[in-house]
Amino acid sequence: MAPPADPLANSLQELAEKDIYSQIRRHRLMQISAVTAIGLAVALLVARNITFTIFAIGIGFLMLALAFAYRHKILASAYTLIGSMATMLFALALTGAGLFDLAVLGYPGLLIFAALLGGVGLFVSVLLFVVILCFGIAWLTLGDFVIPNIPTLSWPHLIFIIVIFVVTGFSVYILVHDIRRLMRSLQRENAKVQRNKAEIQHLAHHDPLTNLPNRLYGEALFTQSLIACEQKKQNLALLFIDLDNFKPVNDALGHAAGDILLEQLTLKLSKDLKPDQHLIRFGGDEFLLLAPFTDYHQELEAIAETVIQKCASKFKILQTQVVISASIGITCAPKEGSDFKQLCRQADVAMYQAKKDGRNTYHYYDQSLDKISDDKFKLLQLLRPALIEQQFQLYYQPMVNLQSGEISMVEALLRWPQPDGSMIAPDQFIPLAESSGLINELGRWVIQQACINCAKQRELGFPNLRVAVNLSAIQFKDGHLQDVIESALQHADLPPNALELELTESLLIDDGDQIQIQLQALSAIGITIAIDDFGTGYSNLGYLRNFNATTLKIDRSFITSLCTAEHDESLVKAIISMAASLGLKTVAEGIEDKATLNKLIALGCNNGQGYYWSKPIPEDRLTALLANQRQ
Ligand code: C2E
Ligand code: CA
Ligand code: CA
Repeated sequence: MAPPADPLANSLQELAEKDIYSQIRRHRLMQISAVTAIGLAVALLVARNITFTIFAIGIGFLMLALAFAYRHKILASAYTLIGSMATMLFALALTGAGLFDLAVLGYPGLLIFAALLGGVGLFVSVLLFVVILCFGIAWLTLGDFVIPNIPTLSWPHLIFIIVIFVVTGFSVYILVHDIRRLMRSLQRENAKVQRNKAEIQHLAHHDPLTNLPNRLYGEALFTQSLIACEQKKQNLALLFIDLDNFKPVNDALGHAAGDILLEQLTLKLSKDLKPDQHLIRFGGDEFLLLAPFTDYHQELEAIAETVIQKCASKFKILQTQVVISASIGITCAPKEGSDFKQLCRQADVAMYQAKKDGRNTYHYYDQSLDKISDDKFKLLQLLRPALIEQQFQLYYQPMVNLQSGEISMVEALLRWPQPDGSMIAPDQFIPLAESSGLINELGRWVIQQACINCAKQRELGFPNLRVAVNLSAIQFKDGHLQDVIESALQHADLPPNALELELTESLLIDDGDQIQIQLQALSAIGITIAIDDFGTGYSNLGYLRNFNATTLKIDRSFITSLCTAEHDESLVKAIISMAASLGLKTVAEGIEDKATLNKLIALGCNNGQGYYWSKPIPEDRLTALLANQRQ
């Protein structure tokens, strides 16, 4: 890959080239001065009278030109060489045969030197000089001021002619040779520039890691593909591919490993692509696949399935087996529009739905997804005033010790009652509170209320009751969580070991390092930590141990089908025994019937929670429930 253009390197290169050029000129000036001087010296042997004197003076000036060149005074050398030669030739012509003198033969060569060694200024001066001299000689001759001395041919004339041709010929040859060399190097440079230009073009349009077209070029490919599809009466699908679990790979194995994974995945996805399909790196762990198709169901579904399968296969990275998966959002042109950015947004919305559907799957865009975004926006507008007006309520759901049958803990669950008597479920508004940043304030209120209420229940005769509070990842971000928790405990006069924090696996994985430190500090003061919804995410117990968890809450989805699905029973059994071997307590979520309860007791689960005992209930009903249990 070509290094990026560096202005300093370029100017150094220019300087170096300039230097080489002046070196060559200097060298040539010295050579021409010396060869001409030698030529004159040879001619001197046969010269007589005034010609001898002119040659001798000429040799003197040529030595001066040589000396100038030797001292790097190139311009002075060029002017001296050419000026003295021009004058010498004039003197020879004037004292010899005028315009018919052999010396005039030297002028064409002189003009060539001037052009090549001196530049425009010198060339024009010499040309004018020559023309004026010719006029001068002609005028002087025709006006009878000078009488040309046309000699009869003799051997010395031949020597003069040969000297003129040899000196001019040699000088012209070496100068033209230089020009040829220069032309060749220019050609090479030109080819290099063309290559660099092509490389820069490629870099501007491709992602350097995977060498796939980038988003910018992707748009151009989309436009081309859409035109081709219109001609062939085809549809064009945009598949927005987002990797699941890419961040844990980056975090656990480092960014270099993440890069290798992306490269390997690119190879896999690019293999068997049809000529009219285009894979584009959209950014980070996001890819876009442009795929023309005719049959909506069979053909497009097969494409999406293939991508899902390729992403979900195993990757070997730095001696480690890595398993990832992908969630895909699909939209189609021209059905859903033909604006690239708009279609990308639609595919992105659909991809988020695929994530919600459980990941490792695909979801088609349809307008109802936009409606969901609209509804979310409206709900978001209501959230802040609700917080200010304290419209939220905390409900509590008991957790029961499966051995003793006693309530050992209650989970605090948020509720948002509406004026019409309905409730908005936390699943709907908590993601909104998270994305708008309101979760910090809301979460603080939950912690305070839960502590106050737990302390109250303890005073009312349940001295060992504990309370569990759900936390969002965002609550760890501003670094104030520990202060919030400590002051809530202090304010309620509740010991830290009465509080449990529930965290989901995905939360721990997404921001592992930052959260780990804070959790260690919190567990050091006696607060316990439970992993919520276990089994739905990363499910790597070894990894989760880093977070000082003491409890695993097995997700409701496994418990509900415990008595019907054999597969779930063996899974729950494995989770319980694995947790026990790591010293973790287990809570089964969502127990709704006696049969499930009995099975869990048989499997050795420690605690249970679910409608079998109670739905989440408001504070006053919890007080009654606990009082009832005491009797
Ligand atoms: P979660 O932490 O898994 O809470 C348990 C959910 O399961 C609760 O739903 C509860 O009502 C429901 N559930 C309990 N037992 C049963 C059962 O036997 N059958 C069935 N079908 N459902 C049962 P809920 O209250 O709607 O809460 C949903 C989620 O909202 C919670 O899941 C939790 O992740 C989140 N959430 C609730 N309150 C808070 C909060 O204060 N802060 C944060 N960050 N999240 C909260
Ligand atoms: Ca929970
Ligand atoms: Ca849960």
